[in-house]
Formats: sequence, C-alpha cells, structure tokens
Amino acid sequence: MSPGPLACPSCASTHPLEARFCPDCRMPLVYAGRGGLEAPITDRHDRVRKIKPQFADGELVRVAGGRNQAEAEFIQALLLEEGVPSLLRRSRGFDVPDYLAAGPRDVLVPESGAATARDVLLQARMAPAEGTAAVPARRVLAGVLGGAAVVAGVAWVGTELLG
Ligand SMILES: [Zn+2]
Repeated sequence: MSPGPLACPSCASTHPLEARFCPDCRMPLVYAGRGGLEAPITDRHDRVRKIKPQFADGELVRVAGGRNQAEAEFIQALLLEEGVPSLLRRSRGFDVPDYLAAGPRDVLVPESGAATARDVLLQARMAPAEGTAAVPARRVLAGVLGGAAVVAGVAWVGTELLG
C-alpha cells in the first residue's frame, strides 16, 4: 500500500485521497499531519512556545530540588507555566542506579530566569526562603517520616474515640 495524504486517527495507517474510512478500524480518515497524529511533537512545540527567551540566558543555577523524578517534574511544570525553562539533574552523592525514578533531583534554570523561578517556587512554598540554600536531604526525609508518624498517631486517636 502506498502512503497517501489521509490517515486513520486510530491506527495511523495512511490511505489515498479517495478512501473515506480505514478498512481495519472503520474510522473516518483525516488529513495526515494534523490533529492528534503528531501528539508528541505538538507537545514539545507547546513547551518551547511557553519558554520566554529572556529567561533562557546564562549559566545554569540550582533553584530547587525534588525528592524524586516526579516531584522534580512537577516543579519543572510550575516553572514552565511562568516561561522559565529548566533542566533536571540527579543530585550528587546519592547512590541510586540511573534507571530508577527514585532519588533526589536538582532543578536547574538559566541565570536570567532564576529570580522568577524562585518567586514561583516561593509562591508554591517549594523553595527555602533564602536563595539556593539547599535543605539537606536527610532533614527532608526526617520531616516526611515525622509527618507520617503524626498522621498515624491521629489515626490511632481516631480509632480510640470511635471504639
Ligand atoms: Zn485504522
């Protein structure tokens, strides 16, 4: 089958202009290169479009840290909403295999975007008040564990009151 200008929105097979439905999926065909067929590229374009060029200059500086990949990506998305591009890097000194999503990440932004990034993070309460001062990971972990203990205590008290 020679590739045509039409594509199936379901299986992405291409078809000649005279076809109307995908023979496999019975889906109405659309023009290739439009709609959801290039979702990943559109996504990337979207990201690039959000970045403000005035925030993309200078050396990379660390503005925040995530306890893991997911948290770091969340921070990255927050920054991008304000037009600040960022880069994630595995924090040094943690012996976690590269393929694991676990382990802390540094969030780095270009120097010209750092002030805005810190504002964004302060508003989201995700950065220490003074500059790039990092909270030692062990203290963060202790805080998390402490919080869990408090929650467990509350749950226990709740059970006692109910019983
Ligand atoms: Zn199809």
